[in-house]
Amino acid sequence: MRLQYGPAEEKFRSDLVAWLEANVPAQELLDVPRISSADLPDWAREWQRKLFDNGWLVPGWPPELGGRNATPVEQMIYFEEMRGRDIPRSYNPQGLGIIAPSLLDYGTEEQKQRWLLPTLRAEIAWSLGMSEPGAGSDLAALKTRAVLDGDHFVVNGQKVWTSGAHHSDWNMCFVRTNPDVPKHKGISVLIIDMKTPGVEPRPFPELSDPDYTDFNEVFFTDVHVPKENLLGELDQGWALAGGSLAHERAMLWIENAYDCQRGVEELIALGDRVGPNGYPLRDDPKFRSDVASLFVDSQAMRLMGVRGFSKFLKGKSAPEHSLLKLFGGETTQKILLAGTEALGAAALDNGAPGPRVHRRGSWITGYLRTFASTIPGGTSEIQRNIIAERVLGLPRG
Ligand SMILES: Cc1cc2nc3c(=O)[nH]c(=O)nc-3n(C[C@H](O)[C@H](O)[C@H](O)COP(=O)(O)OP(=O)(O)OC[C@H]3O[C@@H](n4cnc5c(N)ncnc54)[C@H](O)[C@@H]3O)c2cc1C
Repeated sequence: MRLQYGPAEEKFRSDLVAWLEANVPAQELLDVPRISSADLPDWAREWQRKLFDNGWLVPGWPPELGGRNATPVEQMIYFEEMRGRDIPRSYNPQGLGIIAPSLLDYGTEEQKQRWLLPTLRAEIAWSLGMSEPGAGSDLAALKTRAVLDGDHFVVNGQKVWTSGAHHSDWNMCFVRTNPDVPKHKGISVLIIDMKTPGVEPRPFPELSDPDYTDFNEVFFTDVHVPKENLLGELDQGWALAGGSLAHERAMLWIENAYDCQRGVEELIALGDRVGPNGYPLRDDPKFRSDVASLFVDSQAMRLMGVRGFSKFLKGKSAPEHSLLKLFGGETTQKILLAGTEALGAAALDNGAPGPRVHRRGSWITGYLRTFASTIPGGTSEIQRNIIAERVLGLPRG
């Protein structure tokens, strides 16, 4: 089987590559470690604004929304090229990847003017308030309460794992507006100004990377939210939850496939290093066997993604995409584990060339960070449940 693009697609790619080569921010800016996923330095705002102004921010959207009406194949090329260069489109991924599409799908015209365009132009940064201490995989168990009182809601409760909350301007917050109906039916979505009295983000560090503080607990105490900040219909927030996560998963497979392929290349490059046993790792039978099987997995992953994508283009259902989040997250994890095991104590060395997959740093830091990609947007166990029930049609356990 030969996979190749037609002339129109190759022209799209060469236009994009030429534009990127002329406009990508300087490497020394890209190399500065980030503080959180809602931390937007001036250069990062300018970069996103430039993408927006030139139709390269969300190519599948119309030009007035930062796109160029790109076809799905062109969008696939776009994500390949961007991932290959290690350049995020936005330094507030939840704002651009989850909240902007939700505003597009569910916002009123006034809400789109007020929040969508400033989000696309990187004028505002967002956090996403879904998870709570008792509601993660079972999001519908959320308890943060919003009571309508005249022209505003009064919000009380707590969120957790809220990425970037302490640097965000706004929070898209899932709240319970009706406790007297089945739990999926009494949820609404409010857009909350993080500067409102009673909103208190409390950041906490990550075990895997103490210099990066993204997670927060967010406490809401008698927070007044104007009624017009309701996104979508009252009590119909469950539809937005599905929509938000679908946006998170869309096209993720391309990035996963790319990360796996690059991870295996980095693993192969380790082969020249002398391992703990005193000879080059390429002569270590376990290392050789790991590299071979992970190479096969990474190729299988890419081909499965392309097969699913071609079904999607023909309007058919593509169960492959349900498998790819799970397979991609776990393959990346195995790649980082294989490097860590092969290097032994040297895997702790931050000074040695480490893997670019999962941010720079030592192999062991990279390995610890891979756990993060098997959790958000549905943990690996939840993905297995979905595959068992919805793809394989097995009965619920
Ligand atoms: C890097 C990262 C960023 C995040 N950012 C955000 C954010 O910005 N906003 C936000 O709201 N949330 C965020 N989260 C939280 C994330 O959505 C939750 O961690 C996730 O939904 C899992 O919920 P939980 O942590 O409460 O675990 P739980 O749901 O309590 O699960 C604990 C364990 O039990 C397993 N389990 C649970 N239910 C089942 C079941 N039915 N069958 C089998 N196994 C099950 C899970 O797989 C897991 O291993 C983020 C998480 C991470 C890792």
